[in-house]
Amino acid sequence: MYTLPDLPYSKDALDSYLSSEILELHHDKHHAGYVSGANAALEALAEARSKGDFKAVKAHSRALAFHGSGHVLHTLYWNSMSPNGGGDPTGELKTELEKSFGSIDGFRGHFKAATAQAEASGWGILAYEPLADRCVVLAAEVHQQMGVQGSIPLLVCDVWEHAYYLRYQNRRPDYVNGFFDVIHWDYAAKRLAAAKALAGA
Ligand code: MN
Repeated sequence: MYTLPDLPYSKDALDSYLSSEILELHHDKHHAGYVSGANAALEALAEARSKGDFKAVKAHSRALAFHGSGHVLHTLYWNSMSPNGGGDPTGELKTELEKSFGSIDGFRGHFKAATAQAEASGWGILAYEPLADRCVVLAAEVHQQMGVQGSIPLLVCDVWEHAYYLRYQNRRPDYVNGFFDVIHWDYAAKRLAAAKALAGA
């Protein structure tokens, strides 16, 4: 069963970017809803197996994909930001982003545009794609379908309106620009190293 992780910082730690009210609603209500939804789907599937009654399996599987993806993405999202974040990446992550996007500014511009333009209930995603051994920017518009299969998310930015509306209203590009002031490069670097080890790259 899934459990709701604590935020990796206090609710007011990102206040220059997102208020504690936004983080409280987003974590305690929205993210918690995905955790309980995923658990309800797992329970429903267990019950279906025990009864040998699979007529609702498609609906339960869809619910598991939707809520499970929401849980995974929100967990990545909290860790994609840090009160000590921002600036430029270093080391292997810097090298990898330059190889994949030409420059760090090239990545920034690409990620900001893709994320700001993702249609409602979307996500901006920096991911590692092991087949080509490169990073890609993805924008998921239906979050249970995360684009290139097998890509491993390194950083995500939530652009469902609940993530920013209380402070930024319809100014989503301002919210996406501000993401770079708190971006947690060290988390992405750690995930990149683990992803490459997994891929044998
Ligand atoms: Mn969200």
